[in-house]
Amino acid sequence: MQNRFIDLYSDTKTKPSPGMRKAMAEAEVGDEQKMEDPTVNRLRERVCELLGTEDAVFLPSGTMANQIAIRVHCRPGDEVMADKTAHIINSEGGGPAANASVMIRTIDGTAGVFTGEQLKASLRDPASRYNPRSRLVSIENTSNGGFGTAWPLATMQGVAEVARAAGVSLHMDGARLANACVKSGTKARDYAACVDSLWLDYTKGLGAPVGATLAGSKAFIQESWRHKQMMGGSMRQSGVIAAAALYALEHNWDRLAEDHDNARHLSEGLANIKGIAIDVPRMQTNLVFFEVTKPGWTAQRLVDACKERGVGLGANTASRLRAVTHLDVGRKDIDVALKTISDVLAA
Ligand SMILES: *Cc1c(COP(=O)(O)O)cnc(C)c1O
Repeated sequence: MQNRFIDLYSDTKTKPSPGMRKAMAEAEVGDEQKMEDPTVNRLRERVCELLGTEDAVFLPSGTMANQIAIRVHCRPGDEVMADKTAHIINSEGGGPAANASVMIRTIDGTAGVFTGEQLKASLRDPASRYNPRSRLVSIENTSNGGFGTAWPLATMQGVAEVARAAGVSLHMDGARLANACVKSGTKARDYAACVDSLWLDYTKGLGAPVGATLAGSKAFIQESWRHKQMMGGSMRQSGVIAAAALYALEHNWDRLAEDHDNARHLSEGLANIKGIAIDVPRMQTNLVFFEVTKPGWTAQRLVDACKERGVGLGANTASRLRAVTHLDVGRKDIDVALKTISDVLAA
C-alpha cells in the first residue's frame, strides 16, 4: 500500500513546484489589460520568439484561446474543418456554435492527423450559395483524442498548402505543442510557420496552474483582444500567473522526454497485464489509452477500484481508459500503478 495518490488522470493534475511558486511570489506586476504588466509582456515576447509570430496575448485558458481564434477567423454560418476527435468538437461545451455560430465539418483522420488530400476532399465549392463557406482548418498537435500523436511536419505543410491555395485559414490547438516538439524534434517555430494562429497551454505537461498564450499576426492579436475583453478574459495583475508560465517554459519543456519514456514504460507494462488490451506503438507521447477486456469489467469499474487503492485513471468510453504521465509522477509511481491495476484485475 502506498500513501501518496498517484494521479494519472491527466497532465493537468500537476501542482506548482516550490521553484515555480517562488517565481510567482517574486513576479513584478501591473495592470495587464493596460499592457502594464511587465511579466505578462515578457511572456508575450518570449512566446513570439519561440513561435516566430508577430504578437501574442495571454489568456486564462486554452479553451478561451480556441474560442477566440474561431471567432476572429470566422463569420456566422462559416465552416470549420477539424479531425473528428478534436477538442473543439468534443470538449468545449459546444463553444464554436455558441460563441462563433459556425458549422463544423469533421475529417476522418488517422490518430487525429489528416492529410492535405483529405482536407481538399472536405472543402466546399466556394461558388455555391447552398454550401456553408469553408473558412478555417483546426489542427490539434499533439492530438489528444488521437493517442497523443505528434504531427509530422511534412503532413502539416501539406495541409497548409491546400488551405492556402483555397484561401482557408489555419489554426493550431497547441495544448501539447511542447510534447509534439520534444517527440518529433521539430522546432515550435517550424510548426508555427504552417498556421495563421496557434496557442500553447501552460497547464498541461508544462506544469503551471493557469494560462495559455494565443499567437499570430499583429492584426489577428489586436482583434483577439476585443474578444478576450468581450468574454471576460482580460485580467489585471496576472504577472503572478505569467511568472509560472515563464518558469514552465524555461524548466519544464525539455524534461517532457521523461514523461514520454514513462508513458512507454506504462504502455509496455499494461500490455503484460491479463484483461488489458493496448496498441503499444500507437502511444507516442505522454497519453496512454487502453481497453479493459476482462469479462464483467467496465472502464469506470477499473477507475473506481484503482482510485480506492491510490491510483487515478480516466474512463473515456465503456471500455477505454486513459492514463497520462507528467512531472508529478516518476518511474517508481508508474511501477506502483502497474502493480495496482494488475492486482485489481487479478482479485
Ligand atoms: C486541455 C486541452 C484544451 C483546453 O485547454 P484548457 O487550458 O484546459 O482550457 C484544448 N485542446 C486540447 C487538445 C486539450 O488537451
